[in-house]
Amino acid sequence: MGVSKQMIRMMSDGEVAKALKNVLERVTTAAKARKQDLVLLCEEPRLVAVSKTKPKEMIEEAYAAGQRHFGENYVQELVQKAHDLELQEKCPEIKWHVIGHIQSNKINKVVGIPNLYMVETVDTPKLANAINRAWAKQNKDTKLKVLVQVNTSSEENKSGIQPSEAGSLFNHIITQCPNLEAAGLMTIGAFDHDLSIGPNPDMECLLKCRAQICEDMSLDPKNVELSMGMSNDFEHAIGIGSTNVRVGSTIFGARNIQKS
Ligand SMILES: *Cc1c(COP(=O)(O)O)cnc(C)c1O
Repeated sequence: MGVSKQMIRMMSDGEVAKALKNVLERVTTAAKARKQDLVLLCEEPRLVAVSKTKPKEMIEEAYAAGQRHFGENYVQELVQKAHDLELQEKCPEIKWHVIGHIQSNKINKVVGIPNLYMVETVDTPKLANAINRAWAKQNKDTKLKVLVQVNTSSEENKSGIQPSEAGSLFNHIITQCPNLEAAGLMTIGAFDHDLSIGPNPDMECLLKCRAQICEDMSLDPKNVELSMGMSNDFEHAIGIGSTNVRVGSTIFGARNIQKS
């Protein structure tokens, strides 16, 4: 995570802060344009700034500009950033979201992340159980918020539980994982949906999953978040009910390397 001279120049111009402000304005505008029933479900959607592959200086700049929620999807990188003493000192109220696949041998590292706010990628009962046990050992006085990641596009190479199984995993977390708070659902979905054709079917699938879960378990949809929407479609996502958008490149610039 070296910082090139070019990046430093860019940052001293406040590019990240500027881009962040612009995205926040777009979030607010999209939120205001929602139908009234959606406004009641979620007053102001949360922006998670996705800082993967980006240097800590950019996180610090966004934090200084008021951003608090940050997402990372490579556990090793998140662990490194979250334990960085300078970052901790400059960003004492940072709230980390885990948005990438979690291998079972990384669970203890994940739960040990300082200022961990939410794990968005729980997709099996086994993973839920393991995080539940690991969180208990942390002796925290709050439950750990988790989202059930749903593979709405049914692509084999994508993480996430099948939509038909999402309800039973959600129920499992509520009934079997006392140290976890089942906070909602998350999807990544297809990247290349053409919005001129109509609403994103992955997002609509997530909406249906929530409706089913709320009906089956008599839950208030207000208490079941939807994490959907990224740089290219976060306004659309908010328009149809997202409560948590994950925006990376529009804030921090394009990523050079797509690690897998
Ligand atoms: C990288 C990533 C994002 C952000 O993607 P952008 O297109 O850069 O906004 C959001 N969600 C997940 C799960 C990601 O891995």
